[in-house]
Amino acid sequence: MATEKVIIIGSGPAGWAAAIYTARAELAPLVLEGAITETNRMAGTLPLGQLNLTTEVENYPGFPAGDMAPYLDNALPGPVRALMPPHSHHGISGPELMELMRQQAKNFGTRVVTDDVVEVDFSRRPFTLRTLGKHTYSAEAVIVATGARANYLGLESEDAYKNRGVSACAVCDGALPRFRNRPLVVVGGGDSAVEEATYLSKFASRVHLVHRRDTLRASKIMAERLHANRKIKPEWNHQLTEVLGDDTGVNGVKLTSTVDGSTRQVEAAGVFLAIGHTPNTAFLGGQLELTEKNYIRWTVPFRTNTSVEGVFAAGDVADDYYRQAITAAGSGCQSALDAERWLSHCGH
Ligand code: NAP
Repeated sequence: MATEKVIIIGSGPAGWAAAIYTARAELAPLVLEGAITETNRMAGTLPLGQLNLTTEVENYPGFPAGDMAPYLDNALPGPVRALMPPHSHHGISGPELMELMRQQAKNFGTRVVTDDVVEVDFSRRPFTLRTLGKHTYSAEAVIVATGARANYLGLESEDAYKNRGVSACAVCDGALPRFRNRPLVVVGGGDSAVEEATYLSKFASRVHLVHRRDTLRASKIMAERLHANRKIKPEWNHQLTEVLGDDTGVNGVKLTSTVDGSTRQVEAAGVFLAIGHTPNTAFLGGQLELTEKNYIRWTVPFRTNTSVEGVFAAGDVADDYYRQAITAAGSGCQSALDAERWLSHCGH
């Protein structure tokens, strides 16, 4: 088994930025981008990360509103382009941005393997990585950029109706026929909840936004969008306590007041969770130091070093504070520079 100079685990903005920089530094990076499995689809951990599950990206610098279609035709290989949804003309979409980053990394020689890392051995160098596809890889340096995934409430009834009306990704599932012109529920009070509710309001007859407090966590501009949308009905001070349904799927929810404990039922054909994220760190098997919320701990101020020398972390897997595409890409770049300097310090 040949030892790679650097392996990057993960394929969101952090992973691709790390790949672009390490490829240009002639470190011949290998990206393990994740596997395409039903488990990953359900968990929201498919290749290309969370941005691949969003619609328009309005805040990534360099992509103002405009018709990107001819550029996408030009920049992406025909087969990739053919599989993408039609371009919206509003700027760039999350999936478009991710395919462009992936292609940019490949243009500089990055090799990409579509597989999940399920086990690591960071106890000695070179490091060893084992995958779902039963391959073993060896690397002098590793950049972990596996991001985070959406949380669920943890209700039995929620689990029972996953794929039959319960989802944590409006953009992936919202356009399904079962949700068209039907009432839907979104849970959460942050930017994601408002974004999902706004998106679903295009299909749904009504969207109930269930939030456990009476004040949104979402930014002001998103909150204004919510208040201007007459199809969205905020259900303040409520917690979703049961998903109701039958053999065909979800048909309602039980809401419990966080003020007086009273309950009521609301008709709904779908439930969309937007209640925050969990970092994808379980596969590390405790070999890197984590924070109390299980994010990888950056151990040197202003650097992407982890508790293991030669292992670096970038993006949402280590950042529970900024969690933006641009900050993830920025730390991906930092991790590549840190890895490059460390490898050169070690004589590689
Ligand atoms: P978030 O800001 O952490 O919000 C999570 C929401 O879920 C909060 O309102 C929280 O309620 C609620 N929540 C958490 N656990 C819950 C539970 N067990 N039961 C009921 N409610 C629960 O997460 P996010 O909305 O996913 O946003 C994450 C980051 O991405 C943020 O930095 C955000 O700005 C960014 N983002 C930006 C955009 C955009 O700009 N277009 C879009 C999406 C996300 P409390 O408020 O009571 O804690």
